[in-house]
Amino acid sequence: ASVFVAAVFFAFSWHRMDQIPLSEFSAGIAYILIILVLSGASSFKSNYHYRKQYVYSQHLLKLSATDSLTGIYNRAKWDEELEKWLAYRRRYDLPLSVIFFDIDNFKNINDMFGHLAGDQVIVEITDIVRSAIRESDVFSRWGGDEFMLLLPNTERQQALNLAERLRTAVADHPFNRVGTVTCSFGLSMASRDDTPATLVKRTDQLLYTAKLSGRNSVAS
Ligand code: GH3
Ligand code: MG
Repeated sequence: ASVFVAAVFFAFSWHRMDQIPLSEFSAGIAYILIILVLSGASSFKSNYHYRKQYVYSQHLLKLSATDSLTGIYNRAKWDEELEKWLAYRRRYDLPLSVIFFDIDNFKNINDMFGHLAGDQVIVEITDIVRSAIRESDVFSRWGGDEFMLLLPNTERQQALNLAERLRTAVADHPFNRVGTVTCSFGLSMASRDDTPATLVKRTDQLLYTAKLSGRNSVAS
């Protein structure tokens, strides 16, 4: 833009000020060009740092919201999303389902095959679930071998179907080295008066019920 404006200025001046000697006119052009090149280079350099800082801050933002092993949301991001969707549910009275699930006897897997094989199981389960849910669903690692799914605008029966689908998909999947792995699921619907704590507590109790009923099951 600067070069264009300068070019227009000089073209205009050339016609209007023909009494200026050519040598002085050329010196003026050279002087302005040097200033343009220097200021262009310096602004490019400072913009380069801004751009680098921006990319870096985006990267940090992503790191702060994701679980490093699986790449899905972490607990902090889950808390944020849950608050947001509960407020949305209160405001618009749309159904909101929550599924809390946990890998069955995961300690045994770690003990028998090692922690790296255990990590691989967590990653494979994450992939199975990720490919079965909608893009609008919020999937996060709650901690250890526990996962949370938030299903906005999803009625109980739809959520129950999904939980059953996930349960069989995991149970039928041949896990690398480990073989068969199962998960237990707790499912509940958010009510108008739910806070994050009451909703998580209720769903956790249902997960516990699923564990008590022999694991590899869904309690709602
Ligand atoms: P339950 O069926 O009752 O859930 O039994 P469980 O053996 O799965 O018991 P629990 O859920 O309490 O055990 C979780 C284990 O997961 C304990 C911990 O050592 C292990 N663990 C937690 N985080 C990780 C991880 O990132 N990688 C691996 N490999 N193991 C983990
Ligand atoms: Mg477990």
